[in-house]
Amino acid sequence: MNMYDEFVLEMHALANKAKLLHFAERGATLESVFIIQELDNRKAAIALRMRSEDLAVYVGITPAMYWMRLRAARIFKRFPETLERFKQGETEISHVAMLWGKITEANSKLIFENMCGRSKREMESFLSRVKNDGTLLEDEGVTEITIRLKDSERDVFERAREILAHGGKVPSLAETVVKATELLVDRLDPMRKAERAAARAEKRRGKTNEGEGEGEEFSPSSIQPGEDEFDQSCDSSESGGSGPGDLGDYFSHFGLKEKAVSAFAIPRKHARESTTKHRRAIPAAMRHQVWLRDKGECTFEHDDGSVCGETMMIELDHIDMVCFGGEHSVDNLRLRCRTHNRYHAVVSLGEDFMSRWYS
Ligand SMILES: [Zn+2]
Repeated sequence: MNMYDEFVLEMHALANKAKLLHFAERGATLESVFIIQELDNRKAAIALRMRSEDLAVYVGITPAMYWMRLRAARIFKRFPETLERFKQGETEISHVAMLWGKITEANSKLIFENMCGRSKREMESFLSRVKNDGTLLEDEGVTEITIRLKDSERDVFERAREILAHGGKVPSLAETVVKATELLVDRLDPMRKAERAAARAEKRRGKTNEGEGEGEEFSPSSIQPGEDEFDQSCDSSESGGSGPGDLGDYFSHFGLKEKAVSAFAIPRKHARESTTKHRRAIPAAMRHQVWLRDKGECTFEHDDGSVCGETMMIELDHIDMVCFGGEHSVDNLRLRCRTHNRYHAVVSLGEDFMSRWYS
């Protein structure tokens, strides 16, 4: 036997030793997984007068590890193939635990085929693309975002997941973030608000027709800041005629200092009162109607006939300005982006006039 053969034999022995060790390690881990499941099933924490977290530390692992092993145990039970793969050393407890709330009968085959030899990160990324029905979202359109959260912030996410969990399915963090964003957009996006209001109005009409009494009322919501600044704040038709009063309103509206206002001998406090007293809000139903008609976009038409179409910083614009006697009506209102709303005001009132509030 030459030196090289000896070396090969030695490496064989070493590799086999590692193999045995890892086999034993997996066996011990599995046993731990099932003991933890039994502890949980039999409510050991209650009997031992401990919180689950303390029980975890008591048995010698972190609470996170405890929950992970518990989740893995449930997956092993429901999908025995995962157990086989773990025994073969093809996957890890952390990967199996990740399947919790994600794996279904329909997508299990796809998952089994892809869980071997992946890093935790790759596994997370893969699972985020697996749909319940066993199809896989294309790679394109998937954005990976890494965010660092403090524990307290993370708690909020976990709480949101609990709230959003239904039918035994716990949403992933990504689904939770998307859902939360959706809810926020639903609540704050004027376009969606308008759609919802229209649906409510439709429902109410239906109810009234059927004679079931009155439905939901439009909630009177105040004008959003930034909306319709020019028209509303020069509402001279209701502020007791033209004169310094109007300008006082302007100054207070744009938050200018008292000094500037005092030039017109209008105390700021009074100016503010008169502003609130005489500013009429556009009724919510009317605003919603205009939003729907204009599809939430700036309707400004360029010289070449193309439409601005901006969807950010959208304001309601009076076609006949309020200070020239224009009134609140769906026909007299349109959506304009901030730039084009200002443009309209500048064209109507003159650059000199407007530059007083902007320079
Ligand atoms: Zn525009």
